[in-house]
Amino acid sequence: MSKTKIVILGAGYGGLKTLKKLQHENLDAELVLVNKNDYHHETTWLHEAAAGTLDPEKLIYPIEKVVDSKKSTFIQDTVVKINRDEKTVTLQNEGEISYDYLLIALGSEAETFGIPGLKEYALTITSIDSVKKIRARIEEQFAKWKTEQKDELLTIIVGGAGFTGIEFLGELTNRMPELVKTYDIPREKVRIICMEAAPKVLPQFDAKLVDYGVSVLEDRGVEFFVGKPVKEATADGVKFADNETETKEIKAGTIIWAAGVRGNSVIEESGFEAGRGRVKVNNNLTVPGNEEILIIGDCSLIINPENERPYPPTAQIAMQQADVATVNLAKLAKGETDLINFEYHEKGTVCSLGDNDAIGVVFGKNLKGYPASVMKKVIDDRALLQIGGLNIMAKKGKFKFYK
Ligand code: FAD
Ligand code: NAD
Repeated sequence: MSKTKIVILGAGYGGLKTLKKLQHENLDAELVLVNKNDYHHETTWLHEAAAGTLDPEKLIYPIEKVVDSKKSTFIQDTVVKINRDEKTVTLQNEGEISYDYLLIALGSEAETFGIPGLKEYALTITSIDSVKKIRARIEEQFAKWKTEQKDELLTIIVGGAGFTGIEFLGELTNRMPELVKTYDIPREKVRIICMEAAPKVLPQFDAKLVDYGVSVLEDRGVEFFVGKPVKEATADGVKFADNETETKEIKAGTIIWAAGVRGNSVIEESGFEAGRGRVKVNNNLTVPGNEEILIIGDCSLIINPENERPYPPTAQIAMQQADVATVNLAKLAKGETDLINFEYHEKGTVCSLGDNDAIGVVFGKNLKGYPASVMKKVIDDRALLQIGGLNIMAKKGKFKFYK
């Protein structure tokens, strides 16, 4: 009889952590991991590479460092579709692979809400390739200014003042002194504009923390357009609603779209019942009607019982879900049916404002400034340690704790 086959899709926070832990279970099962790249990337650090404050090499490590080849097989390929009736997954190059149990952890994609022009003209902070494009675009535009002298080349518009938008602005404004020096540009010619549809920046935090974060970024030259949703992106810039009746336009050389995410498109293409690409999973992380499939991370949706609203998709949740997915996949492989339920334990949230500054709430306590930025580095290093291990953390970790 062939061994039970567990297939894991995605080697991010959720998928790679589950594989690592399952390898320790010593199951009599075949473990297969599929990921489009042969490296794991720290999604939570992508904004740094986008702004050019961190070399992209620093936020990736080879998946083979985690895969134990005696227990698991790694397939580098792109998942195209999940065929639930056949219990197979279609891969771009390898064709179809079968599974007995499947874990989907394919992360997210940028949510464009159908706004015209975004797919064509805006860049997103979603992968190593996409953030390399952002860095190159800004540098290209700054280099062009010398010969073309068009000031809009120096305008950067960031759509969305959520966590990703704010963290990117923190890094970008930290890099700006070096950028203007390199390209010999007067600083006052550079415009960095953040457009936010909601009446408030980062509504998750209380007003004092938000005011601190906004004033830090404003002091570094960011202009906030709050309550002004982006309506269209064009080859020349952005159209936005200035008020209920009026639309205005700003010309810009670079447009970054950081206004939310949706679950990986593979979910909807495979016919799962989903909202914005996220499947409302059972408490034990299985899919209603397909209990041989578990979904974790940004492709899953879990309701917060305290307010009946979905938890925002975060690495913190994906990693906690990985712990439960490990237990449940091990039980399923052993033929046990008493699966355990997932319960989220919020430890806190920190939003960086560049390397030395941040705002956050940790274990219920508000933090801002340098102590918050130290906490953010500790959180980043912890993820490296838990998934990559001690050597990876020693090599890639953030240890510059001095101001
Ligand atoms: P990911 O970790 O994104 O992994 C998905 C994996 O699937 C990747 O390896 C990808 O290459 C692979 N993949 C995707 N599509 C395919 C395909 N078709 N075929 C094969 N492989 C595929 N959360 C926090 O808790 N704290 C933070 O500080 C934080 N900071 C963030 C900063 C930024 C800039 C961003 C963008 C997000 C941040 N988040 C943060 C959110 C967090 O990164 C995500 O919630 C988390 O990465 C989700 O984990 P995951 O395992 O679902 O997906
Ligand atoms: P988000 O949903 O947190 O924020 C998106 C922002 O874009 C919102 O404020 C929204 O009002 C705004 N927006 C939407 N449509 C708009 C429009 N047309 N014009 C202008 N603004 C518009 O999304 P995100 O920042 O992309 O983050 C994605 C997920 O990753 C979230 O769950 C977040 O919590 C998580 N994350 C966490 C951290 C952290 O913990 N440090 C960092 C980055 C991301």
